[in-house]
Formats: sequence, structure tokens, C-alpha cells
Amino acid sequence: MKVYHSFQEIRSDLSAGKVTCKELVSHYLENIENNKHLNVFVEVYKAEALQQAELIDAKIKSGKAGKLAGMVIGLKDVLCHKGHGLQASSKILDKFISQFNGTAVQRILDEDAIVIGRQSCDEFAMGSSNENSAFGPVLNAADNTRVPGGSSGASAVAVQADLCLASLGSDTGGSVRQPAAFCGTVGLKPSYARISRYGLISYASSFDCIGILSKNVEDAALLLETIAGADEYDSTVSNKPVPQYSQLLKFDGKARIGYLKESIESPGVNDEIKDATKGLITTLQKDGHSVEAFEFNLLDYILPAYYILTTAEASSNLGRYDGVKYGYRSTNITDLESMYKKTRSEGFGKEVKKRIMLGTFVLSASYYDAYYTKAQKVRRLIKEQTEKLFEKYDFILMPTTTTTAFKLGEHSNDPLSMYLADLFTVQANLCGIPGISLPCGKDKEGMPIGIQLLSKSFDESRLLAFSQHIFKNLN
Ligand code: GLN
Repeated sequence: MKVYHSFQEIRSDLSAGKVTCKELVSHYLENIENNKHLNVFVEVYKAEALQQAELIDAKIKSGKAGKLAGMVIGLKDVLCHKGHGLQASSKILDKFISQFNGTAVQRILDEDAIVIGRQSCDEFAMGSSNENSAFGPVLNAADNTRVPGGSSGASAVAVQADLCLASLGSDTGGSVRQPAAFCGTVGLKPSYARISRYGLISYASSFDCIGILSKNVEDAALLLETIAGADEYDSTVSNKPVPQYSQLLKFDGKARIGYLKESIESPGVNDEIKDATKGLITTLQKDGHSVEAFEFNLLDYILPAYYILTTAEASSNLGRYDGVKYGYRSTNITDLESMYKKTRSEGFGKEVKKRIMLGTFVLSASYYDAYYTKAQKVRRLIKEQTEKLFEKYDFILMPTTTTTAFKLGEHSNDPLSMYLADLFTVQANLCGIPGISLPCGKDKEGMPIGIQLLSKSFDESRLLAFSQHIFKNLN
């Protein structure tokens, strides 16, 4: 079967009778089988997906199909899907089954998308390489000795290797955009509160965002308009109306773009990434847009603020996993206290335990003001300074990452260098603004390079339209 690069192609072939949903699902199942070594799926819902495909084929015939009929999707292992396993790729949620559908999942199912399986990730979405999964590392399909990025690494590889058309992931500090950059896909993190978090396993609640990994901008837009919007189950989600993003992808006029000066000057950024960024800047200027450099003097504080605040929120959120009501429980216990201690010591992996401890420390009575309160203030400053930039610019441009996909194990003994992988992505989460990573060529070794565009809050329509313009015409 031919490889489909967009849902639009699938939709037109479905309506012309050139392909059926069942054939599509079989095609992806075969690809999954042939690419088992990539270790993408924790579970594949073979029988269920085929059955669903038949049902949707019948709906298409009778003209009653939803707008995602024929879209085959994978779900990161942090999204509740009723009756299916859910573990955040952690041993602590061993054998846990979702009791309900998260809102985003429910909304794609209501529009007849087909869920093909559950995808691995870094445990509790903490990581940048997908090496922190209880199910073992996931491999980049472009080079099996390299990581796919994280934490939604497997969700990106699934799109890269055509194991499904699109994936839903989550982005707390770059977990959709960074793997998208490493795997050559599109990765969209919308504004905070654009999509309900109901049914998304919490990592750091004031940062967490469901995001989309897809082969192109249109599919991301279509998925976003389907899953975004008010939800009675999440009091933090925005009630702002949801534009039909997929119908608004034409970008007219000229944009004012600011790019981060350091991102093409700093020795910390890989030369080929700098060249790709400069190349795009020149192309944009030739296309008539104004593009100028800006300096961001709080850059050095972005990562520390992010890691203090997210670990604090994580230490609180992950307190619920104690072995009492569900998931893993240690068998080797003597009393209640040893049950808690052993369950949590054995159930969580190293990175998660490290973050829980760091978070507990920064929230402790003696250090709260020095770390947590200060980081909150820094977050506010970063947000204000970023908002100021949007008075001058429509979009901010910078590379998504400082390097292309690195080798498996390369940063295992140096957590700080791993955290640096998030340098350019966490700003969007600290500020709650939308960000998208678009493929922007490859390095000499054939590894994909990603470019990131940010816009002000709830400006997804223009962000997506401009991304489409770059994706289609300038790249
Ligand atoms: N890599 C970042 C971290 O480890 C981002 C993770 C995420 O966005 N879920 O926290």
C-alpha cells in the first residue's frame, strides 16, 4: 500500500473507494510488526482496531462517518482510554486499566478516529530521550543507534516510521516538540488550557499540555480543532471558542518575526542547526517578512525555573501513587509504612525518584522561599518579558533543539547535559504560549533538524497558518 502523508489524501481515497479503513489499519499493523525493534508500542490493539475499521467503513458507506473517519492514531501512555492499560511507562502503575476516556481521547473517538495502540514514553513524561521508560528505550527510525527524543519519543517515531498517521502526546517542557524535531515530524503544543487535561496523567499541572505529532500542519490543525475547547471535567480549561483551524490555514500578508540571537550565535548550538536556522531566516526575509534578532536576558534562568517548579508540582502530583488502591504494590512488606516505602522505592524509576526528592526539597519549609517562591517570581518575569516580545513580533523563531538526535546512552551519566536539550522548548510552557516544531532539513548524518515557532497565547490560528506557509512554500 502507498504511504499516506496526509489525512486529506486518505479522505479522498476513502471516498473514491480506493482504500478502506480496514486496509489502512492492516497496513499500519504490518508496519508495526516489521518495526518491532523500534520498541514504540507498549500495546497494539490489533483485533479492536480492525473491528473498529469495519464499523467505520460501514459508516462511511452510509454517509454517517465523523470527520476523523480513517485517521489511525496512537496514544502516548499518559492518556486515559477506557478499558485499556495506562501506566505512564512506569512499573508503579503495573496492570492499571483506565476507567474512563480522557476528554481529548473521547473527542477523537466521537469523530471516528481509530486508536491503534498505546505508545511508550519517558516514565511520567520525565525525560528527553525516551530512555526512562519501564519498557526499555525507544529507537529513532532514522538511525537505530540514536534516541527519538522525549518524553513523547515513541509517539514521534510512530509517525516518522508510518506506524500510524498521527499521535497524541503531552508537552510539559517540550515533550512533543523536541521528539518531533529529532524524528522529522510536526509537533504542536497549543496554549496552556486550550485542551482539557481531563484524563491526562499529571506531571506538572501548571505546565502540562496535550500535544499533537503529525506528518503535516493540516492534520495537526484538524486534530486541534477536534480536541480543544471547554470541558465540564476540567475547570482550568479555557472557554474561548475554538476556531476551525484547518479551514484557516492561508497566511496572507507579511509577518514580523523575532529570533533569539543566542540561538544562531551560541557555541552550545550545533553548527548545522545554526545554518538551517539562518537559511530559513534568509528565506523568510526574501519572502518579504521582517525578521530581526532579539536578546533575551533571562535565558539563563529558564531551565532552573522550569526544573524547580515542575519537580515541585511533580512531587505533589505523584504522591497519589502509594500502592494502596491501584497499581504496583511491593510484596516484601512488614507494616503500613514499609508498604509505602517499598512500593514507591521499587515502583518508580531513578529519574522520577530524583525529581520527587528534588521537588520535595524545594517545597520544604526551610527552602520554600529560596527556591519555589523565587522560581515562581522568575516565571512571572519570563512571562512578562516574553509577552513584551509579542508587542513587536507576530512570531518568535528559534531552533527546537540545540543538537540533532543524540546516541542512546550519550547523556545517561550527565543529567545536566540532558536537561540542556530542553533549553529552547521550556519557555513556551513557562509562559503558557503555543509552540510548534517544523521539520527544517537534515544534518550531514541524515538526522532531522527542527525549527520552532512561538506565538502569543491563543493565537494558534495564525501560528498554524504561518507554519503551513513555511511547511508548504519555504522549506
Ligand atoms: N524533557 C523535559 C523534562 O524532562 C520535558 C518533559 C515533558 O515535556 N513532559 O521535564
